[in-house]
Amino acid sequence: MKIIIILICVILPGLLSAQTTIIRDTEIEQMVKEVNSDSLKSYIQKMVSFGTRNTLSTQTDNSHGIGAAKKWVLKKFNEFARASDGRLTASIDNTSYKADNQRVNRNIILGNVVATLKGTDPDDKRIFLISGHLDNMRTNVMDSIREAPGANDDGSGSAAVIECARIMSRHRFPATLIFITVSGEEQGLLGATYMATKAKKENWNIEAVLNNDIMGSNNSSETNIIDNTRIRVFSEGLPAFETEKNAKRIRQFGLENDGVSRQLARYVKETGERYVENIDVVMIYRNDRFLRGGDHTPYVENGFAAVRITEMNENYNHQHQDVRKENGIQFGDLEAFMDFEYLRKNTAINLSTLANLAKAPARPEDVQIETKKLGNITHLFWKEPKGKKPKGYYILSRQTTCAFWEKKTFTSDLQIDLPYSKDNYFFAVQSVNDDGNESLPVVPSVIR
Ligand SMILES: [Zn+2]
Repeated sequence: MKIIIILICVILPGLLSAQTTIIRDTEIEQMVKEVNSDSLKSYIQKMVSFGTRNTLSTQTDNSHGIGAAKKWVLKKFNEFARASDGRLTASIDNTSYKADNQRVNRNIILGNVVATLKGTDPDDKRIFLISGHLDNMRTNVMDSIREAPGANDDGSGSAAVIECARIMSRHRFPATLIFITVSGEEQGLLGATYMATKAKKENWNIEAVLNNDIMGSNNSSETNIIDNTRIRVFSEGLPAFETEKNAKRIRQFGLENDGVSRQLARYVKETGERYVENIDVVMIYRNDRFLRGGDHTPYVENGFAAVRITEMNENYNHQHQDVRKENGIQFGDLEAFMDFEYLRKNTAINLSTLANLAKAPARPEDVQIETKKLGNITHLFWKEPKGKKPKGYYILSRQTTCAFWEKKTFTSDLQIDLPYSKDNYFFAVQSVNDDGNESLPVVPSVIR
């Protein structure tokens, strides 16, 4: 039995964590280098040029409104498809939506632009999804006529999705990737709700959703902070899905900080910081910000692991605001307020996370921790995943008060005895291949 111990989290006074060992996959490293701030800027300029992308705006004009914006994203996806040997396919997934007397005042066609990069392993059913919202709003969400640039909200997230599709469609992954720009976010998360409900109903095997919304501006209103070295990842701790059923187990074993979305957030932090320089991923222990919603939530509510990625500080003069000047202050979501180097780094965090997940072997199955007897040795065991055999497994551990995994212990076996008490640590197991791509971790269930 071969065991290598890698310290990945060193708690230092005043510092949250620091990776001491970095193993990078050269292919992912190369893809990260290809993320280009000029590309991202050009996508945003194009999106802004449609005047408004309000979901209630025109569907038929070729150069104005949400319809033109959707057709343009589809055209971009189809360009990338030609360079993908037929593995990338794209379409607009339309559905009709009836007036709801809330934020939709007439019957509309709601369309999400979806590109799917089919996995190269036909037996691998895993799906990893990245999302941004194409629609936007003025101060009045019902105003579908007048200027609404939406450069950052959510031109930034949509641009990140398009750039990831451009780069990743030239590479091969065993698992399937879905790139989606949705409509109807500002009208009440309509496009994401449609997609998440459909995925649940049709049993799609979505293992992770990265929702990108407002991630390309480095400054805040009120405080004058400028910061392009930190990005937030929001995740819920207690799963909203089936909470009642799981509450007893979560309370008993102290798992309130180990829901699937929180695990995904840790994974984004570890992987993103492994591949992208000069950026810290800051985990926020809540599903979303006060007074705001996001497209990850319908996925979370349907039982999927989903997180929201958003800039560190927000400038509310530049969100959901009519373009205007008042008392010398410029309001509006304009390109001029964006930081494309920051957006490049944040896009690269998404790309490295998605690539590492989609290249990784599947998660180990039936991971269990033995609690039949008292003792200071922790016994964990699991089964090989279906599909391609992993090189081995990392056993992750952390103290119960630590936010991040502290240790990785490698084994090629299907069980391990660790000289650490199960009472004092949290554990999880992930599969790993020769290139160091790790699956999402699995928290053991308890066997007595
Ligand atoms: Zn938004």
